[in-house]
Amino acid sequence: MLLFTPAIDSAGLGITRAQQNLQYWASSADKVYFRGPYVSVYYTSLCSSGNLTASKIRGYIATAETTWSSLGLSFSWSSTQNGADITVKGIDETTAGNMGYDYYVYGYTDIPSESLEGVGVGNYNGTPKYISEITGATFIYLIDRGKDSTFCNRIAIHEFTHSLGYYGHYNVYGSLMYSEADGILTGALSTNERNHLKQIYDYQL
Ligand SMILES: [Zn+2]
Repeated sequence: MLLFTPAIDSAGLGITRAQQNLQYWASSADKVYFRGPYVSVYYTSLCSSGNLTASKIRGYIATAETTWSSLGLSFSWSSTQNGADITVKGIDETTAGNMGYDYYVYGYTDIPSESLEGVGVGNYNGTPKYISEITGATFIYLIDRGKDSTFCNRIAIHEFTHSLGYYGHYNVYGSLMYSEADGILTGALSTNERNHLKQIYDYQL
């Protein structure tokens, strides 16, 4: 029985939705995002050879979507960048240098602040965690530094995971969401990483 009319916060969202009690936390950061339930993906590449051509990127993204199939999202391919929720772009080292990415950066996810809308504060063991919804376009850059396809695939899944809302990194060497590319030794999620994001989607979507 509902005893009280739920209060509405300034964003017009029910407080009950905002004050999510979190059971898991697998990030060094205190933020988490979510998006969806419909997510369109556009991909393109400046690389005509190597392991970050457009067709290879399409394959990596398909793997990433399978990795996160448990979130309840519906993915589709977009034929144009305009209107796409996630744009994935393969770039060469020169372009990466011009964009200011250092030599040790293999992938980057850009979530513009105008693509974020605060939902509320979650509670994990008494610690506040800030939850936002991704309501606009986000961008993933994959940088061709001559790495093999296994490496590129892992980086693509890692960046795609950021674009689904995984903010920050998981401090366990070898894991998918580890902070350094050379320390990402798997393309699969650990239970902790999966729960970190899935608890948000299960509750918010
Ligand atoms: Zn990362």
